[in-house]
Amino acid sequence: MAQRIVVIGGGAAGIGAAGAAKAVDAAADVRVYTEFEDVGYSPCGIPYVHGKEIPDFERLFLATKEAYAGQGIDIHYETRATGFGGFDLTVDDRESSGGTGTGPMPTEYLLAAMASCYALALAWAAGKRGITLPGLAVTATGTYDGPRFSRLQLDVQSDAPPGLVEPLVEPALRVCYVSNTLATSPPVEVTVASS
Ligand SMILES: Cc1cc2nc3c(=O)[nH]c(=O)nc-3n(C[C@H](O)[C@H](O)[C@H](O)COP(=O)(O)OP(=O)(O)OC[C@H]3O[C@@H](n4cnc5c(N)ncnc54)[C@H](O)[C@@H]3O)c2cc1C
Repeated sequence: MAQRIVVIGGGAAGIGAAGAAKAVDAAADVRVYTEFEDVGYSPCGIPYVHGKEIPDFERLFLATKEAYAGQGIDIHYETRATGFGGFDLTVDDRESSGGTGTGPMPTEYLLAAMASCYALALAWAAGKRGITLPGLAVTATGTYDGPRFSRLQLDVQSDAPPGLVEPLVEPALRVCYVSNTLATSPPVEVTVASS
């Protein structure tokens, strides 16, 4: 399956990242979402246009739309990214923790991501073997240890006999993106930018 890379913003960073991703993995499904009708505009050149060293603003576009399409970069123009997959997510905290209690906590989203991803993985693993899992439900539980979870537990329920479900546990873990990510904990990198 081709790796999907989604880039928000078609400025220097965004279009550079998209091009670099394609250079590293030509088969990758690289998508750029930009609010504007164009990408790859170089604001650094603006003073040079005013100084008449560059004849016009059109020259400040690094490449044409056709050139990006030719590179296989799928650019969605005039599209503002407002949430994951086009959906808005409400995140809040308990009132006792300074929130307003109007939405799930971030850690609840983490557990929901685990449970839902693993449920999809189980259904996929079952489907590959021609099995259906009626009444499938996956619950994720986290055990707090200070500001982290020290234990994560997935519980699977289904109307199918346990002997049918158990052989699917490992194959499903292998294709569960969320479990795989948590199991090998990538470093968390933080960047700061002005809005
Ligand atoms: C006049 C001028 C001269 C400059 N000269 C120099 C120079 O000489 N040297 C230098 O190093 N730098 C220079 N800079 C700065 C340089 O242009 C910027 O640092 C660079 O453009 C930043 O690129 P970026 O991709 O990080 O951010 P941006 O160019 O800000 O691009 C981010 C893009 O993401 C889009 N976006 C954000 N959120 C969303 C969303 N939710 N959905 C869709 N799209 C979204 C924004 O609309 C924007 O187009 C200059 C800037 C100006 C204005």
